[in-house]
Amino acid sequence: MKYCKYCGFPVPYGKFLEWTSDGTILGRDSARTRLVYLDVDELVNLFNGIQNWVGTDIAHIIYRAEKEVGKRFIETLLPSFFAKVPRGKFARPEFGVRVIGNYIFNYMAGLGMGRAEILEYESGNFARVKIKDGHSIPLIAGDGAGVFEYLERIGVETDWQRVRSEEYILTIKKVSDQPEAGVAIPLPSSEYVPGNVIFNKCKRCGVPLEVTSNIYLDFEKGILRHKLTGMRVVALPVQSFNAVMRELGKEFGEELQTFIEALERKYFRENYTRPASMGKAGLDAIYEEFCWRGVGNPASAINTSAGVEVTVLNPFHPEAIAGRVAGLYESWTETTVRSTWSKEKEGIIKVLMQKISR
Ligand SMILES: [Zn+2]
Repeated sequence: MKYCKYCGFPVPYGKFLEWTSDGTILGRDSARTRLVYLDVDELVNLFNGIQNWVGTDIAHIIYRAEKEVGKRFIETLLPSFFAKVPRGKFARPEFGVRVIGNYIFNYMAGLGMGRAEILEYESGNFARVKIKDGHSIPLIAGDGAGVFEYLERIGVETDWQRVRSEEYILTIKKVSDQPEAGVAIPLPSSEYVPGNVIFNKCKRCGVPLEVTSNIYLDFEKGILRHKLTGMRVVALPVQSFNAVMRELGKEFGEELQTFIEALERKYFRENYTRPASMGKAGLDAIYEEFCWRGVGNPASAINTSAGVEVTVLNPFHPEAIAGRVAGLYESWTETTVRSTWSKEKEGIIKVLMQKISR
């Protein structure tokens, strides 16, 4: 892996990802995959919170939704690479899959998803993969199964077993000659509300210094950490987050999305660390991480007679952002607020907050 001599980030980062002026992070793959940097604890908190709320194990639903995303993802990530390998049937399947596997595993490590390694592979039938420091095992299992189904054109099932504290073995097995008709995945938005977010981009590799100064990537381990808080961070495809939440919503009812808002609000109220440099900076400074994290563009944060009003363009998930906006505000002001939000139009939400206590 080559690291940028100027900012120290792996060089492929700037080649794969683009931080746009509209508050999104887009991949340079054919689908322009949108990514968002979430805390791993935030994701775990969401999945655990939902699981406790519905009172049943949700890992398999996460896995199933992610499998379809994994297929799409690999389809858009690989074309240029695939030009060198015959599609469908490989001349030397084990070799081809190992090469593709390593390519994908490196990509995933760069996003902070841990380290994977193929232990065994039998074309058209079976694979065993070791996952170390994975951000979410059901998500990774879904990705792995999706890639396997895509490459082999068969239906598979996956089991995962913990072998050490941060180490799992995935076993992917053929169960049918055809991939099962998967869950429908919402199409990624291709149009975003324009903005004028400006980054201070590294002169050499193009990655914003806001990113490289805030997070540290241990590429060997596939671990990203926030430099200030020490929290682990992962870059997740937005489509993946939305597909999983949509499936969970279909299974357990649409009030789930409102519950996501409550979980995010609580998480950010309890876990927000104010940068020491921030001092008494203005209201919008609370939301300054939104852009480099790709969660959305906090276009304005103003005091109105009705309360504090925050407008976010291109929120990656409206409820999650509404909760995040309120939670950060509560943490910053050490108050509790009453908050409501509305979708102005596609890609624009307004969150209104009124203090109710001191
Ligand atoms: Zn650089």
